[in-house]
Amino acid sequence: MAFHDEIEIEDFEYDDETETYTYPCPCGDLFTVTKTELIAGEEIARCPSCSLIIKVIYNLEDFRKTQVGLAEASGQRVAV
Ligand SMILES: [Zn+2]
Repeated sequence: MAFHDEIEIEDFEYDDETETYTYPCPCGDLFTVTKTELIAGEEIARCPSCSLIIKVIYNLEDFRKTQVGLAEASGQRVAV
């Protein structure tokens, strides 16, 4: 599988409402990958307008921990 590029997760834009990470594609559209896909180990972001794909550079274990940590943190805030 040929990746157009490899991009670190930090360089993606994150949209809270759709829980989707996006990164600009050279065609003018955006590569997209959802948080759910990343947690599942899907490390490929796809552009819906062209055939390009990019590899997302991230640490799966750290990413899962961060997501669980955020959920717990918000839960505690609500409890307090
Ligand atoms: Zn594209």
